[in-house]
Amino acid sequence: MELSKKRRRKLQSAIDLDYGYRRYEDRDVYVLDRGGKVGCGVFAARQFFPGELLFEITGQLISAKSYDGSTYAMHLDDDWYLEPSIPGAFVNHSCSPNCDLLQITDVTNGLIATCNIEAGTEVCFDYQWEAQWWIPRCRCGARNCRGWVVAENEIKKMKRIAERKKKAR
Ligand SMILES: [Zn+2]
Repeated sequence: MELSKKRRRKLQSAIDLDYGYRRYEDRDVYVLDRGGKVGCGVFAARQFFPGELLFEITGQLISAKSYDGSTYAMHLDDDWYLEPSIPGAFVNHSCSPNCDLLQITDVTNGLIATCNIEAGTEVCFDYQWEAQWWIPRCRCGARNCRGWVVAENEIKKMKRIAERKKKAR
């Protein structure tokens, strides 16, 4: 039997209490949903110093051969991708980030502070994506914002793709 919307909401909120899936929180970081276009982000629950590990990004391992992960899947090596679980999945991109993504074990990445991060600050890293037709505009608000969520050296290519997309419309 199909769940009614109301019952689904009720059951899900009970599940969320146990799993903390969408409302992740520990002594180091927490997920906050600011609603609207900004959506969810990960925030520091305490101060972090440059070079300090914020948290280990674990998740589902996806074979590169049968790759059908989301756009958020992180490249680990030639054979494997990491589909990050919460809170890793909610870390936003910034063109002027306060963290770096670093592979720290064979199967996990670490989010590392690259500057002093005060409690309550949103943490983010530079996604360094390749230019693709589906790449969104960047709204990170940084003074040096590149305009698209792609790596610095992919901007030229991204602009060409965006130009073609405009013409096709
Ligand atoms: Zn930006």
